[in-house]
Amino acid sequence: MQIKFMGTAASEGIPNPFCNCKVCTYARENGGKNVRTRASLMIDGHIAIDMSPEWSYQLKRENMTARDTDMVLFTHTHPDHFNVGEFVSRAKGFAQNIEFPLHVFGNDCAIKGAFNALDGLQGDRFVFHLVAPYITCEHAGYKITPTLANHAKMELCYNYLIEKDGKTFFYGLDSGWLPESTFEFLKGRHIDVAVLECTYAFREGEKTANHLNFKSLFDEVALLKELCCLDKTSRVIASHVSHSSTLNHEELEKLMQEHGIITAFDGLTLDI
Ligand SMILES: [Zn+2]
Ligand SMILES: [Zn+2]
Ligand SMILES: [Zn+2]
Repeated sequence: MQIKFMGTAASEGIPNPFCNCKVCTYARENGGKNVRTRASLMIDGHIAIDMSPEWSYQLKRENMTARDTDMVLFTHTHPDHFNVGEFVSRAKGFAQNIEFPLHVFGNDCAIKGAFNALDGLQGDRFVFHLVAPYITCEHAGYKITPTLANHAKMELCYNYLIEKDGKTFFYGLDSGWLPESTFEFLKGRHIDVAVLECTYAFREGEKTANHLNFKSLFDEVALLKELCCLDKTSRVIASHVSHSSTLNHEELEKLMQEHGIITAFDGLTLDI
């Protein structure tokens, strides 16, 4: 599998258009990896995980199209991940020469929200899959398992375990400290690449709900090692970066390196 980080920011993006903190100011002045669009990821050009508000721009930035994208997996319906208005651009009368349906996976809020956004335009160009935690479905050679996150109060939010050709990828953004049921599920399953979040940065708290901070991220990585999910061959990547972290990209990268963690940036591409 090849993964490409289309966006790596928390909900405000970096720079946050309304903000003049030192991270946003530094990003405006220095650009490069300091500028982050909202989180979404592409696997092999086939699977999009979440659609951020900048999704269309992200594809253009990477010289990509979504013409080969046949699956979208939604983690949850917070607006930084759930830009379903974009689906209308694939409907009949809006996009031409569409030869296969787009398979949309998610929880009930996501599936209902995507269906409603199309407002009757779905035709045969969209197929909706309501998926349940810890139940694996197989599609186009990928094994896809949603696992429960500890994120929103009014919605069961998912992370995704994706397996192909003997390799395993875990997408764990907007996770908070994972629930016990997810640690139980992951126990003993080797993960080659895990994308975890660091949104709360230096905010205090152990086993933080809603989002991980730096401490709970490092503790969670340690626990995943104890559970034999991560070993020396695994790569852990931190994403969903907030300007509130007070760190620019280079500073964040230095901190993460000390803990053996790679810092994501927009456009980062890895083969698994
Ligand atoms: Zn988010
Ligand atoms: Zn800021
Ligand atoms: Zn969220």
